[in-house]
Amino acid sequence: MLIKAWEFAKLAHGDHVRKNGDLYVVHPLETAILLAQWHLDVTTIVSGLLHDTVEDGGANPEDLKETFGSEIATLVNGVTTVSNLRLKGSHEDMFVESLRKMILVMAHDLRVVFVKLADRTHNMQTLAALPEDKQRKIARETLEIFAPLSERLGMGAVKAQLEDLSFPYLYPDDYKKLVKVSEKNYAQAKEHTEKMMNEILVNLQKEQIEGKVLGRQKHLYSLWKKLERDEIAGDFEKIHDIVALRVLVDRVADCYAALGIVHSLYKPVPSIGISDFIAQPKPNGYRSIHTKVFGPEGRIVEVQIRTFQMHEEAEHGAAAHWAYSEAKSGGAKDALLESGKATLPSQKLTWVKELVSWQDQISDSEEFLKAVKFDAFQHRNFVFSPNGDVYDLPSGATPVDFAFAVHTNLGFYISGAKVNGKIVPLTHKLKSGDVVEILKAKNIHEPSRHWLESVVTTTARRQINRFLHKK
Ligand code: MN
Repeated sequence: MLIKAWEFAKLAHGDHVRKNGDLYVVHPLETAILLAQWHLDVTTIVSGLLHDTVEDGGANPEDLKETFGSEIATLVNGVTTVSNLRLKGSHEDMFVESLRKMILVMAHDLRVVFVKLADRTHNMQTLAALPEDKQRKIARETLEIFAPLSERLGMGAVKAQLEDLSFPYLYPDDYKKLVKVSEKNYAQAKEHTEKMMNEILVNLQKEQIEGKVLGRQKHLYSLWKKLERDEIAGDFEKIHDIVALRVLVDRVADCYAALGIVHSLYKPVPSIGISDFIAQPKPNGYRSIHTKVFGPEGRIVEVQIRTFQMHEEAEHGAAAHWAYSEAKSGGAKDALLESGKATLPSQKLTWVKELVSWQDQISDSEEFLKAVKFDAFQHRNFVFSPNGDVYDLPSGATPVDFAFAVHTNLGFYISGAKVNGKIVPLTHKLKSGDVVEILKAKNIHEPSRHWLESVVTTTARRQINRFLHKK
């Protein structure tokens, strides 16, 4: 499958060259490599190789479907749909949030989002070749949409990478300054934590707990954000996790044993103490025990304790989760899949389903409530105007609802409607992803009383009623 996809991508992109001088096909290749590093299945990796063959290459959708089957064709098409969503002028939180949700709704299959995130990561890595205005626009979209999206999906490593890749394009002066000032702070923190790493490891071994101790450097963008906080006001002394320690062990019970060892070596800091995200995971599925202790020279150091599996999930989030559930359900068929002799059962993991399955232990937290509100989005439709503007309409909405959502005036000039290029009745129910075109009458066209039976939005109903009353 992979070889076939690679050959197909090379053919589709030909000798097309990107702005940075690479052959175009290097981009889908790098995208696929990222997906492989996130441990995604072969279907997703193949979709990564093929993701631009139709939109930017010479392939047509029928070729793709015939050669690779409908599952991969659907994934590739989904990536294109998500890529065509436009981030328009407004940067209001509400708008950005709904765009993020829209991506998830439009994606149908979470794997589309993984391909999109890998695509975006590589585009950010090669952003230097683009003109300045494009750099800023793409970096802003990455920081506002794709980094938070990967955070929602629990993909901590991807989030950190996207943020650090965007940072220098959006805040070049702050970036340069921080790189300079943070250098010696990173170095000093590293020196302290390295001593601790050894001590902890020796004591784990004494208690016969197998594990690893790692140091993790806080990534630049998140360091900058933290320094900007009022209570920190640029003071490095107040940041306790510039370099944090990670203790990785095999089992959950070992996590608590390791916590005991850490606290016997270093006194925990009383007021800011322990967070047990194993007993109470974060809404995005993150699990770990965090504790703050007094390290060498009284320096406060954060220690994060988790199992190897939790670590994998914290780095790759939903991707890791997806890979696990796939491995479990796939089982013996793997060899067949690998050889391309079988295809995966189409397993539509929706965002909401994923989320709910992670959440069942923390049903009382406020964050959880916030998270399940996504559920409401399953009943929303995101439809497009012919020039790509997006409208969020409730389920059951018709072209009449759409027209009134665009502009009240348009509502009074409806002579007909097209959905995805085809004429439809005005009672037609719209679906997410539909492109809706209202055929406009030259003169005002009276709304019909019958429309009231099919419209679902308050705006449309109110306008129609008002018109009929006046009449
Ligand atoms: Mn691409």
